[in-house]
Order: sequence, then structure tokens, then C-alpha cells
Amino acid sequence: MPRPIVATIHLPALQHNLAQLRQRAGTARVWGVVKANAYGHGITRVWPALRAADGLACLDLDEAKLLRELGWRGPLLLLEGTFEPRDLELCSTLQLWHVVHHAEQLDWLAAHKTQQPHHVFLKFNSGMNRLGFDAPGLRAAWARLHAMPQVQGVTLMTHFANADRPDGIEAALRAWRLATEGMQAPLCLANSAATLVHAAATAADWVRPGIALYGAAPDAPTHRAADWGLQPAMTLASQLIATQTLATGAQVGYGGTYTAPKPTTMGVVACGYADGYPRHAPNGTPVLVQGVRCPLIGRVSMDMLAVDLAPVLAQGQPVGVGSEVVLWGRSRSGAELPIDEVAQAAQTIAYELMCALAPRVRVIVEHQEST
Ligand SMILES: *Cc1c(COP(=O)(O)O)cnc(C)c1O
Repeated sequence: MPRPIVATIHLPALQHNLAQLRQRAGTARVWGVVKANAYGHGITRVWPALRAADGLACLDLDEAKLLRELGWRGPLLLLEGTFEPRDLELCSTLQLWHVVHHAEQLDWLAAHKTQQPHHVFLKFNSGMNRLGFDAPGLRAAWARLHAMPQVQGVTLMTHFANADRPDGIEAALRAWRLATEGMQAPLCLANSAATLVHAAATAADWVRPGIALYGAAPDAPTHRAADWGLQPAMTLASQLIATQTLATGAQVGYGGTYTAPKPTTMGVVACGYADGYPRHAPNGTPVLVQGVRCPLIGRVSMDMLAVDLAPVLAQGQPVGVGSEVVLWGRSRSGAELPIDEVAQAAQTIAYELMCALAPRVRVIVEHQEST
């Protein structure tokens, strides 16, 4: 038997989350952001659910190639654009739309020989200070793009640094409006946080949600995913492979970071940091054992972690080797443990946990809502 740890990708949840975001986005078309192998969920796995999006956005040319091979004929956007001139050949042959965020990319495009006119997303730096043109640079790039026979369409875009905060986009929006004044083009502003928290202010022709599609809250812990009507798209589940009875004063795991304050029944779970579970999850991080929240105890090791079984025993449930454990997502009983809660306990974000799901974890795809 393989190790009992399994990740389940819930396609009905992805479809549901996409529909929620669509509703929130009004008339805007929706890019499904599938970079980083669909935030760790697997492009090939999520594709049957996300093909209902209006476009798919990624970073990696290999991911774009894969999506075309899977049969995606719709708009496909490279969020960081081209990394070197010859990437443009692939953009031409696969009809990839690409972000243009610095002048070298314009030079490459001007020198590119193609019969296939390109659609580009011209990026403004609204204060994130990673990628994008400043206001004068944007005007110059706009003029250059419009003079290029290689270019057929230009969409204006920006990316907010603080859209998870209620007051986080005002200054950026002001800068954006000034910089783009008078330019007639489709617009694309919002990631998940902007789509959910600032729907009206960021209304445009396109939105670009990622994390919300996968069922985490972009503004956690202010809101929970459920507050936005989102469902978890990934469950990481395993089983107990041993139990121990701790005497008062006994310690658990490497470094003995947990000391039992009283006699304690604990379970050992087949899940460790080599599966993608965060090693920094401290004592008390919630874990579902047979649908009941139990606290993690001791240091997470490579292949195992430990939980105090008191809460599940208090409910009179028999528990032992083989008992169901949910690290995040949904248990068979329907109990949910939001990935955002685990991330917060471990002082990280759901994005990182999803993306870190290890290749050794077996993955199954749930096509229909289980009843
Ligand atoms: C990743 C990314 C997104 C999606 O962000 P989420 O916070 O996951 O919704 C949108 N736009 C750009 C440019 C990105 O790189």
C-alpha cells in the first residue's frame, strides 16, 4: 500500500469559484490564472474546470505550450511577457498574448518578423515597483506599439501591491488614471483581491484572479474564503499511522518542543514537510482528525507530524491507526479546515502552501461533488 497521504483536487469547487468571481466581476471577462502549475493543483488536472474561463494566464512558455496541447484555443496570456527575443516566435505560432513591461521587450517586438499580429498587454507600474513602465514610459511605449505592424491590439494593465486592504489601491488608482488618460484601450486591473475587495473601483474589461479560484481568501485573515462564497479546491488528507500515550512531562518530536502537561493520547500522521506541509507550523496549528479539530504538537518532521487526540476522544469517537486526517480542505464528514488558517498559523500564505505540494504526494481529481 502506498503511504496514505493524498491530495484531492475538487473540480466542482473550481467551477463554483470561477462562477463566483464572474458574478463579482460584472461584465468583465475572466482570466483564469494558472501560473505555477495552477498554484500547485496541476494544469492538466484543473483544465476541465477552468476551460470555462474567458482566457488562461501563465508565466512559463512550457505551461502555455501545454495548454495549447490540451486543446485550449482561447486567449492565452504570458503575465511576464517574453524573456528573450526568440520567445516571440512561440507567441506567433501559439498565438500567445504577452505582457510588455520594459523597453527591451519593445525592441524585440519591433525586430520580430511575423505574419501573425500580436495582442499585447502594456503594463503600468502603479507602485508595486516590480514590473511595468512609469507614466512617461507608458506613453512612449503606447506610441511605439501603435506604430508597429507586428501589433494588432493593446490592452492596458496594472497590478496592485495592496489590493487586500480596503484603503490599499487609492493612490495606485490615481496614478493609473493620470498615466492612462486619453488612451483608448481595453483595461485589465484586478487580481483576486481587487476583484473581491474593490470590485467597483477596478471594474474593467478583464480581471485576473488566481488564488480565489483555488478557494483561498486573497485578504485572509480579514475575510475567510467562505465569506466570499469560495470553496476549497484542494484537500490534503492522510491517516494516523500510530498512536502514543504520553505521561505528564513527556516530550514529542525532534527538539522536544512540546511537553505534555498531563497524560495525553496523541496520534502520528503520515504527513511531513517533504509532502509540502509547513515545517514552521507551531504547536496548536489545527488538524482535522475524523472531522474534529485537534492541535498539532511537537515539531513537524520530514514524513510525520503529531496531534493531540483529546478533542476527538472527547466526542467519544473511536480513533486509531487508519483514522482520517485532513491537513487542509474538506473531510469526509463535510467538516472544513481552510488552508488560510493553516497558513496563518505557520506565518505564511495559502499561495505558498498550495504551490509547495510535493511531487511525492499522490493526487486524485474529484469530478463530481461527493455526497
Ligand atoms: C499572479 C498574478 C495574478 C493573480 O493574483 P492572485 O492574487 O492569485 O489573484 C494576477 N495578475 C498578475 C500580474 C499576477 O502575476
